[in-house]
Amino acid sequence: MANNMRYFIGNWKMFGVPKSINILDKINTFTNFNKRFNKNYKIIITPPFTLIESFAKRFKNKSIFIGGQNCYHKDSFGSNTGSISPFMLKKIGATYVIIGHSDNRAEGDTAKMLKNKVIGSLNNNLKIVFCIGENKKEKKKKLTYKVLRNQLTKVLEKKFNYNNIIIAYEPIWSIGTGKIPKSEDLKKISKFIKKILKGIFKTKKPPKVLYGGSVDGSNIASFKSLKEIDGFLIGGASKSSKKFIDIIKNYYR
Ligand code: PEP
Repeated sequence: MANNMRYFIGNWKMFGVPKSINILDKINTFTNFNKRFNKNYKIIITPPFTLIESFAKRFKNKSIFIGGQNCYHKDSFGSNTGSISPFMLKKIGATYVIIGHSDNRAEGDTAKMLKNKVIGSLNNNLKIVFCIGENKKEKKKKLTYKVLRNQLTKVLEKKFNYNNIIIAYEPIWSIGTGKIPKSEDLKKISKFIKKILKGIFKTKKPPKVLYGGSVDGSNIASFKSLKEIDGFLIGGASKSSKKFIDIIKNYYR
């Protein structure tokens, strides 16, 4: 298990000021030390837009990659007040971008907009973390598989470079609630997602599938045995270097 590449992605959401770079400094020190033990993982942090450039400069060629939390659905410049395009993200040093987070879907992101965001981001050589997940009502009605299939097939296409796409399964009912799916459910769901991805991209090696939703230093141990899960998208616990480091430590313990 421990030798397979794992992702630990911290999504800061609306958190952080310039001095919050201290958090990344501590994570970087930990990672440099830890790498000596041959742990094979990648850390990506998505701070708010205001911090991407300074963070990306500081961690260029280091063990932390910086990404955006979202982007506009046109890929370069335009008369769209308050918007940031994939081109602009790339120019300030972002290498990843989250697309389709449930926060943004709730604010009106449609499948068509998400597809355009994916196309624009791939065109600008950004790697994509594409979020999918059912809400509480859908789970209750046993619609999880249908919802996930739709979210994947309505946006992703065979022609996309799937080497630059990562999927984050984030059940909405687990985000920020302290609730996590049962291991057996998560196993089945991640296998299902990989099956759909194999079909879309006509490949035997589909994109990585991460889990996100209330991951912390205590519950991370319960994900260790799930080889289908290639890493984690972490919200709340990524805003503290200690909590984020504890997740990685306890995953490999
Ligand atoms: C998220 O918002 O993507 C997330 C996973 O948040 P949390 O870890 O706080 O549930």
